[in-house]
Amino acid sequence: MPNWSNWSGALTAKPEHIHFLRSEADAEALVSQAREQGRRIRVAGACHSHAPLVQHNEVLVDAQGLSGVISTDTDSQSAWVAAGTRIYALGHALQAVGLALANQGDIDQQAICGATATGTHGTGVTLRNLSAAVIGARIVLANGESVDCSATNNSELWQASRLHLGAFGIVTRLHLQLRAAYRLKETTWQTHLDDALDQFAAHAGANRHHEFFWYPQSNQAQCKSINETDEPAQYPLAAEGQRCAWSHEVLPNHRPHKHTEMEYSIPAELAPDCMRAIRDLLNSRFTEIAWPVEYRSLAADDVWLSTAYERDTVTISVHQDIREEDEPYFRACEEIFLEYQGRPHWGKVNYLNGSQLAACHLRWQDWWQVRNKVDPSGTFLNDYLESIR
Ligand SMILES: Cc1cc2nc3c(=O)[nH]c(=O)nc-3n(C[C@H](O)[C@H](O)[C@H](O)COP(=O)(O)OP(=O)(O)OC[C@H]3O[C@@H](n4cnc5c(N)ncnc54)[C@H](O)[C@@H]3O)c2cc1C
Repeated sequence: MPNWSNWSGALTAKPEHIHFLRSEADAEALVSQAREQGRRIRVAGACHSHAPLVQHNEVLVDAQGLSGVISTDTDSQSAWVAAGTRIYALGHALQAVGLALANQGDIDQQAICGATATGTHGTGVTLRNLSAAVIGARIVLANGESVDCSATNNSELWQASRLHLGAFGIVTRLHLQLRAAYRLKETTWQTHLDDALDQFAAHAGANRHHEFFWYPQSNQAQCKSINETDEPAQYPLAAEGQRCAWSHEVLPNHRPHKHTEMEYSIPAELAPDCMRAIRDLLNSRFTEIAWPVEYRSLAADDVWLSTAYERDTVTISVHQDIREEDEPYFRACEEIFLEYQGRPHWGKVNYLNGSQLAACHLRWQDWWQVRNKVDPSGTFLNDYLESIR
């Protein structure tokens, strides 16, 4: 019987040992012991990834015992946070000292280090993903020693490990670039998919956050824009689409229905045509799919394995109910995404092999070189990462 599964339940595993981490000293001792025994380690955040990143049958580390804000600096608008802290637990703690994340994804259930490990993002043409907010980290490397890294200290390790896929070691704390706390107000409306696409660039330029969901089997798109406001927060929080409150109270949503998801990042200028091709695919070959297609924007960054590395991006996500078959649908979408120079989200489903991923990522070899230097024997690789090496 498997004793581990991811959020959706689509991925399962039977780790030999699950270790519930409680301190950095514990992490150092665990790594030394596993290395002596020749056992490989993977670390779990909140297990929300659809990609087999955490799936592992040897030592699995649950890092959620490392939780909380460690220190804040309002002058530099930054904070050190424990790696296992859930994003929802960061919101109030940071707001209490006048700070906030610059952006968040569609939910806030992830551990902060799990989210940064895969380039988790929200929407906004001027807003980068969470990995780009990592300005420092403490990592227990394969030799059992903790190392700090930043732009000025072990800079290659920092650059490579901002988006780390759990492959460098046990990350015990992160140093995050934040901004001053802010309130947001959201509005939603429905329009024809063609209008949503035609007007996307204008809306995305005029609003801090803008996105839409297209519901297949209809022409309707549900659009949402969110902007900063001086209006006071309104409690109890209104339903999604009508909230006016602090950023961490408005950006995340409740997504209880279990599904699998594929998402590709497309160069912003190619994305409308890519979306039309996905619409045509659904209308011609997958008329039974009821789950929405999500369309968001993401600013270019300099994170080596980021899907927005050096290019302004639109992300297009396709979903399927966990009880339904997803592979034929996702494979057909992937063919289209690749035609439009797509890069797959690291935490979601894709079917690419190592050479295809290398073709997507300009810094692929650099990333592996830095990783292999700190973990030459592959202590922090699982079967999936070995397969794409
Ligand atoms: C309902 C739902 C909504 C989502 N919405 C969005 C969205 O809006 N935007 C978006 O971009 N993505 C979204 N995702 C994807 C999700 O954000 C990513 O898959 C994210 O990586 C999950 O975080 P996690 O804490 O669950 O990490 P996990 O899935 O547990 O782990 C992810 C990676 O982080 C590593 N890791 C975690 N903690 C550590 C640590 N301390 N040290 C070393 N390695 C570690 C793991 O080994 C693994 O490689 C969504 C997923 C779901 C299920």
